[in-house]
Amino acid sequence: MAKKEQTPKIYFLDVTNRDGVQTAKLGLSKLEKTMINIYLNEVGVFQSEFGFPTTRHEARYLEANLELVKMGVLKPIRLEGWIRAIVEDVKTAFKFVPNIKHLNLSISTSEQMLKGKFRGKKTGDDIIKEMTDAVDAAKAMGAESIGVNAEDGSRTELGFLVKFGLAAKEHGAARLRYCDTLGYDNPFTIYETMKALAENVVMPLEVHCHGDLGMAVANSLAGAKGSVDGGQDAYINTTVNGIGERAGNADLVACILAITKSKGFAKKYQMGSPIKLTMAAKIAEFASYAFDVPIPLNQPGVGANAFAHASGIHADGVLKDPENYELYSYKELGRGKPKFVETGREIISGQYSGVAGFRHLMGKMNVSFASRDEAADILELVRYANVQSHKPLVEDELLFIAKYPHIAQKVLTQTPLVLETV
Ligand SMILES: [Zn+2]
Repeated sequence: MAKKEQTPKIYFLDVTNRDGVQTAKLGLSKLEKTMINIYLNEVGVFQSEFGFPTTRHEARYLEANLELVKMGVLKPIRLEGWIRAIVEDVKTAFKFVPNIKHLNLSISTSEQMLKGKFRGKKTGDDIIKEMTDAVDAAKAMGAESIGVNAEDGSRTELGFLVKFGLAAKEHGAARLRYCDTLGYDNPFTIYETMKALAENVVMPLEVHCHGDLGMAVANSLAGAKGSVDGGQDAYINTTVNGIGERAGNADLVACILAITKSKGFAKKYQMGSPIKLTMAAKIAEFASYAFDVPIPLNQPGVGANAFAHASGIHADGVLKDPENYELYSYKELGRGKPKFVETGREIISGQYSGVAGFRHLMGKMNVSFASRDEAADILELVRYANVQSHKPLVEDELLFIAKYPHIAQKVLTQTPLVLETV
């Protein structure tokens, strides 16, 4: 068995802009998705699954964010699009987003899906053929890295998963994503499966977990351990605040904490790129605001009660020495800074704002404009952003628009289809 010489490492691949936004009842504006990419880059996340290149209304946002990569604004993060593992999707992705460089191709692999979803019309070999044809097409069209996703991997027989992974590798895929699509695994089973895949497929693995049984973070940790023990790098799929389909995905901040703070883990299992945990509070708060979903009181690290002590014994203990009752410091997560809350008059940006109010608002952030016309142009973009998000923009969004107006314009531009049949 060939093993890599270096100790394998753990990386983060965040899917908030894909799994997060496909969550029922939730969504993000294209500017909010852009801000998530920017924050993920600051956190030190290796890759952001930034959207759907086969969806028309995503195309301009995706292209604009790829421009941010070229400009060095989104660096070193890698932006990757999610599509189905079929040639048709590959073609559409490159048609809508010609500059796309990284793709993940997804197809269901389980017996359940062969019977229940494909209605018995496809065999396992058909699935592998579709996937490898899609990988070939993506490579031919210029994809620099391709991940292949085994959807419903946890209900797929191991032998078939190995066969699927080996075929993907042979055709030039860079990683295999093991998807516990229904949150069916537990830390013991996922460890064994990931280790076996690492040893038998011999390629870097992604672990994608859901929280239907409340184990998404624990399973991610165990899965990553399995991959590393099997000799391969592990890429943990996360979302900010765990927002995702049904009961959600593995929470980014909780996964970082689990890897760096849990008993003895960090001694042997290390991250491949530096992570800035001090960004935790900021990205969690932004995602909460953008999705309009409050952060649970007891959320690890970033919940309002994560560092709150009321009982006498705990309060006394933590005052004597924080380590008595806290595993890590709130400062490590970027908490503890004073927050400015306006209790008097407030000028807010909105879709019907005027130039005078807008200049006043930006002036408070030390942004001034060369002329009234320039201010009016930036305001026009802010108004459109507000139309999409239905809420006042946060400071970082306003600053982003003022700094990169041409990118903002692309992100915000939506042109519906020409209707030919009605
Ligand atoms: Zn998922």
